[in-house]
Amino acid sequence: MVKLRFYGGVNEIGGNKILLEDRKTRIFFDFGQSFAFGTDYFTSWLAPRAVNGLGDYFAFNLLPRISGLYSREMLASTNLAYAEPQVDGVFLSHAHFDHVAHIQFLDPKIPIYVGVGTKLLMESMEETSSFCKYGEHECRKFRTGHSFKVDGVTVEPVHVDHSIPAAYGFIIHTSEGSVVYTGDLRIHGPRKDLTEDFVEKAQSCEPVALICEGTRMVEQEKRKNYSESQVKELSSKVVSSTDKLVLAMRYSRDLDRFRSFYKVAKKNGRKIVVSPKTAYLLTKLLDDEHLDLPDPLKDADILVYYKRKKSGAFDEKDYYAWERKFMDKMVTHEFIHKNQGKLVMDLDFYQFAELIDISPEPGSQFIHSMSEPFSEEDIEDEVMHNWIEHFNMHFHQLHASGHLNKDQLVDLIKHIQPKQVFPVHTENQQLFGHYFKNAQMIESAKEYSL
Ligand SMILES: [Zn+2]
Repeated sequence: MVKLRFYGGVNEIGGNKILLEDRKTRIFFDFGQSFAFGTDYFTSWLAPRAVNGLGDYFAFNLLPRISGLYSREMLASTNLAYAEPQVDGVFLSHAHFDHVAHIQFLDPKIPIYVGVGTKLLMESMEETSSFCKYGEHECRKFRTGHSFKVDGVTVEPVHVDHSIPAAYGFIIHTSEGSVVYTGDLRIHGPRKDLTEDFVEKAQSCEPVALICEGTRMVEQEKRKNYSESQVKELSSKVVSSTDKLVLAMRYSRDLDRFRSFYKVAKKNGRKIVVSPKTAYLLTKLLDDEHLDLPDPLKDADILVYYKRKKSGAFDEKDYYAWERKFMDKMVTHEFIHKNQGKLVMDLDFYQFAELIDISPEPGSQFIHSMSEPFSEEDIEDEVMHNWIEHFNMHFHQLHASGHLNKDQLVDLIKHIQPKQVFPVHTENQQLFGHYFKNAQMIESAKEYSL
């Protein structure tokens, strides 16, 4: 008997925690943190206390109380007793926070299965962010083509296209037939062939169940979305029509988007300026030859922006060891100010204060290459627009989503023809029900037998 239970990603976007049981085998697929996780009880500086391990989370039932899952250390101040692992492994679909963050609580004895590139992305996060700790784990790395026998269950990871490199879906061969889990995926990115491979494989195994993401399963989409090639084309138009500075704000680990801006800059005879963090990530990912990314230390078209820190004099000692690696490629606000028409610069929202030093000429261009805000009262969005207005910049919204839209989701399910559909990572399960009679409306922690 095969059973599925969903401990996260139920009526919410992200936070997937999917438990599959086949006789004595128990495997989790993803173990992430949803975007709205804990926001009923915690906000800004009022955060769960690290010293209390899982205690603060259990107090509000924010994480499931499952025996044989968590580490001894995380359980120390809770009334759930530590038990030897009763879970055989955790497979991670990709390195986004909403799929991996909560592995920090897991028993290090439980093996984690990750893509080769995903591991590099996660290491880079841990090495360059003070807030990111995934904990110690035994990692078993995979690429498409590998498969793992975990007790009686065989798990086959298959690449998909998503807004971060090294994203996978899984085909899980159980005693009751195949179960397919999409992870997060799209088909309008530069590697749509990856998603196509996955969909073909999924269809050919005639699955008994499809666990399908539904981020964009909405009645009517209000936000503007392009394909990655449209983002590139439209950004190029912005750059070619100005002799002023072009700033671009994107998700730091969306390397398809980095590549788009890199190419746009080159095509228009400009250099691209990135943060030390992005430079570090690019260097790290050179270890994955499949990703084909430029080396910031060797590529003359990439410059690295150093902001003033500590002494304010760009002294080597002012920076973290990992940041210092790129000082040969260093540019500062003065350089940016003097060469505005020759550059395309990455700029994160949290680095906006640099604009005061850079002092862009009025009429500079700002490309917001991220999702539009989810609500009209988004404070960060308001602040961002205030800054853009203050510096008299032109605003452009140019983004390609990491997810299939409604029509594409419906096509995907029709093509794969699973016996049952389990919608996860969506706020609109009922819409799946509207299109498919075999769609289950899932409830948190409830058991579903296949
Ligand atoms: Zn996700």
